[in-house]
Amino acid sequence: MPKEGIEIPDFNHSEKNKLSELTIQSPIKSVKYIIDNYTISHGDAKYIVTHINKTYGQCNRCAFDKLDGEYIKCPKCGSLNFNWETDTENGI
Ligand SMILES: [Zn+2]
Repeated sequence: MPKEGIEIPDFNHSEKNKLSELTIQSPIKSVKYIIDNYTISHGDAKYIVTHINKTYGQCNRCAFDKLDGEYIKCPKCGSLNFNWETDTENGI
């Protein structure tokens, strides 16, 4: 877990799939989904959505693509990544 001062809900695998997909489609919907389903502030929900990786293993800020671990700071740029391994990244 990252030490960023926020509580990250313990998302299960299907929640991670859902949130990853939703975040790619519409980050606003993703934030709303988190608020509706978890006890979390709007700011924290937004923070989470901002840091969800679009592509597994690839930093959401720079081009570094060898992230391993779920909640990891990029060794190159220092950005926090929610590097979830979901079922959807190779699909669509
Ligand atoms: Zn990076």
